[in-house]
Amino acid sequence: MHKNHFVRYGTAAEQKYMREYQHTYDGIAINGTILAHIPKAISAFMHKDVNKKFFVDPMTHSFQHELDKITSAKGEIKSSIKKLIEAYGEPINIISNKNRPIKNTDFTTKNKKSFVQNVLLFQDQHIMRNIDEEYREYIEYNPTLRREPSFLIAPYFYLKQSSIDSWLDLNTELLEIALTLKKKFNNKDVYAQVVIDKRLLLNASKIDDLINKYSIADGLLYWIDGLDETDSSKDELKSIRNLINKYKKKNPTKRIISLYGGYFSELLLNDGLYGIVHGLEYGETRDVVPVGGGIPLSKYYLPELRKRIPAARMLSLLKSLKIDTIEKFHDEICNCKVCKKVVNSKVVDFNDFIRSKPEPKTIRYSSGRVRQIYYPERESKELCLFHYLEIKNAEIKRIKKEKKETLIKDLNNSYKKYIKFFSEDEINYLNLWAEVVECE
Ligand SMILES: [Zn+2]
Repeated sequence: MHKNHFVRYGTAAEQKYMREYQHTYDGIAINGTILAHIPKAISAFMHKDVNKKFFVDPMTHSFQHELDKITSAKGEIKSSIKKLIEAYGEPINIISNKNRPIKNTDFTTKNKKSFVQNVLLFQDQHIMRNIDEEYREYIEYNPTLRREPSFLIAPYFYLKQSSIDSWLDLNTELLEIALTLKKKFNNKDVYAQVVIDKRLLLNASKIDDLINKYSIADGLLYWIDGLDETDSSKDELKSIRNLINKYKKKNPTKRIISLYGGYFSELLLNDGLYGIVHGLEYGETRDVVPVGGGIPLSKYYLPELRKRIPAARMLSLLKSLKIDTIEKFHDEICNCKVCKKVVNSKVVDFNDFIRSKPEPKTIRYSSGRVRQIYYPERESKELCLFHYLEIKNAEIKRIKKEKKETLIKDLNNSYKKYIKFFSEDEINYLNLWAEVVECE
């Protein structure tokens, strides 16, 4: 059986959930920025708490955006970024020296090679190097305890329609150099990473060009900037499927992995996609340039809709569906381990899932507006998360087992059931997913 369901390491606080629920996933994706920020905590976690395969996303695109995206409120470069700059060296250190983002012309024949080598070295060794002394001795006796990534990723930069030509050439060159350095890294596979603007996805000839150039790598990872599968056009969804199909046609034995995706991506696991990655909190879609925190609503992943539903909406939905007994809840909503444990009184009390703190916190916006919100209680946030992890695991197992027709019928049935309570706009993605997966 394939082992290809990855969870993204988010924060040190999430480690305990990843440890407790390690039966629900196969591998871990770690962003270079968080690894540079808390290397000791991550190293200890990867060595001692879990025994999972992993890879490190070098996050080299971080250096290419406007500086305010990587600086703190005081105008200083964020410490995690600073540490990554130190690890990668020239020409990335221009950011601190000249106080501007990196340009593709900053790369010279001379500094390209050292940069690529530093980026690969960081991924390959940073976890190993940051283990505590005591455990290091332990590993010397038992080298099988060493933790190294399953593959390396060549440095890459973000591509959008307006600037693709110059950055794509640089990406290709950096990839070529990375492949020549494989010997230094035990001949580990070197993957290419595509990070593109949503609009570029629809440009078939550019995508062809990109696939041709990246096919020299041993595998491919992709991340479509800001694409939300539950709010995408049929053309966008089709283009994702085409990207995978084209890549596999040219590279039948190589692996292609989706870095941010939900159920639609999972369905593509039967259609050439090797692996999927999602985060614990909000990892099914991601903008390349984060736009601030957002308000932490308690959300429940509704298995039939394959989407997180805000607590208040869930409460009214349970009423509309007339789910008033635990049997009905387990039959019609969810019967995972967590839901069986939480929903167990005679009358369904969904409040255990969504309890909010009684004392409101005050949020002051920069506009001067003040708003008071109720944060979800930690316990209910955890329960929603555990349920989510159980369901993701079950979804992927089912997708691998069932026929395509059955999976399509699932989606159609969910639409029919819930269209009574939602607008077409809200849940039409279920139909679009089915149509795109169905077409040959
Ligand atoms: Zn559940």
